[in-house]
This record gives sequence, C-alpha cells and structure tokens, in this order.
Amino acid sequence: MRLLDSGPCAWGALGSVGSAAPVTLLHEATGNLVVVVVVVVVGLLVAIAAAIASRAVLSRLRGVLQLVRAIRRGSLLRDDLDVDDDAELPRSFAALTRELEHNVQSLAVERDRFDALLQAMGEGVVALDDAGHVVLANAAARTLLALAPDDVFERRLAVLSLLGIIDDAAGGTTAAAEVEVVNGDKLRRVLVRATPKPAVSGRARGGVVLVVHDVTEIRRLETLRRDFVANVSHELRTPCSVILANAETLLSGALDDGPRAQKFVEALHRNAEHLARLIADLLELSKIEAGKVTFVRVPLNLRDAAAHVVEAIEPRARAKDISIVVDVDAALQIEGDPKALDQVLINLIDNAVKYTCAGGHVRVSAQRVDNAVRLWIEDDGPGVEPKHKERLFERFYRVDSGRSRDVGGTGLGLAIVKHLVEAMDGEVGVEDALPHGTRFWVQLRLFAAARRPGSAAVDAVTAISPMSPR
Ligand code: ADP
Repeated sequence: MRLLDSGPCAWGALGSVGSAAPVTLLHEATGNLVVVVVVVVVGLLVAIAAAIASRAVLSRLRGVLQLVRAIRRGSLLRDDLDVDDDAELPRSFAALTRELEHNVQSLAVERDRFDALLQAMGEGVVALDDAGHVVLANAAARTLLALAPDDVFERRLAVLSLLGIIDDAAGGTTAAAEVEVVNGDKLRRVLVRATPKPAVSGRARGGVVLVVHDVTEIRRLETLRRDFVANVSHELRTPCSVILANAETLLSGALDDGPRAQKFVEALHRNAEHLARLIADLLELSKIEAGKVTFVRVPLNLRDAAAHVVEAIEPRARAKDISIVVDVDAALQIEGDPKALDQVLINLIDNAVKYTCAGGHVRVSAQRVDNAVRLWIEDDGPGVEPKHKERLFERFYRVDSGRSRDVGGTGLGLAIVKHLVEAMDGEVGVEDALPHGTRFWVQLRLFAAARRPGSAAVDAVTAISPMSPR
C-alpha cells in the first residue's frame, strides 16, 4: 500500500527526473528571446526617436541655413522665409536679422541725409585721412577748387599743404589761407579753413577737415567800395580845391581887379556847378543802389519820350552845330518807369552831344525785338576803343578824365543808366557805329498789350539787321 501510495510520487519523481532539463532549457530560451525582443524593440524605438530628433534638428538647421543664405544674398525680407514657428533658434535669428536690417536702414537714411546736406552746401567740404588722402569731397569743394579728376584734386591739396595749413591742422591747430584758383578763364578767390578731425577708435590722429568759402564776390565788393571812396574823395577834392583857390585869390585883392575878378568868379561858378552835379549824381546812384527809388511799370511811348528829351538838349547841340534825329515808330510802346526812361535818354543823348565833335550827327532809333524794344543812340564822334568798352558802365570810369571834366562830366552818367535800365528789367550795351562813332543800345520790355500771345522770351537780338550807316 505504501508502495502504491508512493507510486505516483515515485512515478512523479521519476517523471520529473526525466523531463527537468528540457523544461529549464525552454525557460532559458524563452527568457533570452524576450530579452532579445526587448533589446531589438528598444533599439528600434531609440533609432526611431533618434531619427525623429535628428530630422527635427536638421530641419531647424536647414531653417537657419536658409536665413543665412538669405542674409548672404542681401535679402533680409524675413516675411518671405518659411520659418517653423516652433523653432526657437531660427526665430531668434530672424529677429536678430530684422533688428540688423532696421539698424542698417536707419544708418542708410542718416547717410543719405548727411550726403544730401553736404552736397547742397554752398561751402566746399573736404575730409582728409591721417595720411593726407581725400576721403570725402562735396560738389562745392570740387567746383571751388576747380577740380575734375581726383589726381588734380590731390595736386591742388598739395598746393594748399604747401601753405602749411593742412600740416598745422594735422598738428591740432585750426588754420586758414586765402588762395586764388584759376578755372578756365575764371579766377576765384577762396578761403580755406583747415580744422583737425577728431580721432576715431583710439587712433592718435584723425586727419583734417577743410571748409572752402568762395570769397570772390566779397573781395570784389570790398575793392569796389575802397575804390569808390577813393574816387569820390578825388572827385570832390578837385572842384573844392579850385573853389578854395579862386576864393582866396579874390579875397587877397583880385576882387578889385574887374576883368580878373570876373574870371575867378566864373571859375567859382563852374566848379560849384560841377560839385552840385557830382553830389546830385552820387545821391541818385546811392538811392538806386540802396533800393530807395520806386519804379512804376506803365506803358510809355518811346518816340514821345525821346522827342521830349531831345527838345531839352537841342540848345546845347545847336551850340556845337550837332543835329539830332529821332527815328522811332510812333506805335512803339515800352513798359517802364517814365522818370527812369527820361533819365536814361538824357544821359545817353547828352553824352552823344558832349563827346561828338562840332558839326556831328546824333540819331535816336528803335526796333521791336520779340517781346522787347531795342533803342539805339548813335553818334559819329571819335568812338570808344574796345579796351574801354567793358568798363564804361563802371562808376567814375572815363576814357579821358580831362575831357570829361571839361565838358562837365561826373563819370557817373553811364553807371546810373545801367542801374535804371536793370531796374526796368532791361539791358544796356555799347558797340561801334559805322564808319566811326559810338552806338549805345538799351533793350526794354515791350508793353504787355502789344506782345504776341505766348511768344518766347527775347532771344533774337543777334538776328536784328544792323542799322545802316549814315
Ligand atoms: P561822364 O560824366 O564822364 O560823361 P559817363 O558815365 O556818362 O560819365 O561816361 C563815361 C565815359 O564814357 C565818358 O567819360 C566818356 O569817356 C565815355 N563816353 C560816354 N559816352 C560817349 C560817347 N557817346 N562817345 C564817346 N565816349 C563816350
């Protein structure tokens, strides 16, 4: 019975002894398989995750690359770029470049503004680096220093540096020099001021800035004023000394000498008259120049005006046996100031009579030229040499001072004419009369109502046929 009881147990024991090895092996194999599967799965998962992560990183890097390429191309228009919203790096990059672009644009605007200002300046500006090379020069500097190509410019600056001003400024002292610059047939006086340029980014010297002023007109006016004062003093001194000398002679006994006294008194009268004329002309000229004379603009009949003036001058002409002819179309009307036109005609016709020899001829004529009228006052006197013609309208300029004074001239008549004509928007000039003599011309505006509608400005002066010689 025990044996029977233990049978199955024994059998079981026996059975277990016979199948234990395969079961364990099976278990081990299963375990290994699981491990392998897990490892493979984990490996796969890691590989997939790595692939996904690297794709994401790559895509971000591609985005950055795209931006970098766009920046290199010079296109900073970030809005065109397809930047992943979640990508922090490209977004920061884009923001950075946007900021950069903004700064670059602001700098460009500033630079353009500075450049426009510099180019619009009347003064010339030249910047030299510490080696003396031109790094900047505006248009005025090039014009004032008469420069075309850069090499000439450098040479011009070399001349200035000879004056020492660039060296002085490079050494830290502001310096200035006035030089004459010849440009073709034009001579300019320029004042060049050299200032040390502040050093940038820690460099010991920062170069030199030159500012160039055109002082031609200022110097011309200064000379004119000096000459004018000298001329006025001289012109006043002469009659004054004659008056003084004659008065003294009379006081010292000549008064009682009838015929002699008469001569001295006549000289007194003549010189006092000249003095009065001189002062009147001077006052007239200074009033016109100071803009104190008001000019009206009314229609004026040229023939009437000329005839009226000739009537007043005729007695003096007759005394010299000079004939005056007025050959002006009665329909010609100009636009101008009646007093100014009278003064112009008086001065020119009176000069023609004064400087023409006895028995000579004077002719006043006029012709329409587009929207203007050209008036000629012509004589057959000795004429004016070409070298004097350009200066004839200057104050106190005379071809022959002695002759001018003898005939009662002040040397201011033509200067007054020029001012008056210009105040009426006209022009004046002088040319030779044929076969000899002088021909002054004055061009004034044609009265508006007589103008051709829409006609062009006066430009056909040279096309007029010259007056036939008498
Ligand atoms: P002035 O009072 O001396 O005549 P103007 O200014 O009127 O001064 O003229 C300047 C100079 O021009 C004169 O001194 C004279 O030498 C010259 N001039 C003017 N008109 C004539 C002319 N018709 N013929 C020759 N010379 C003239």
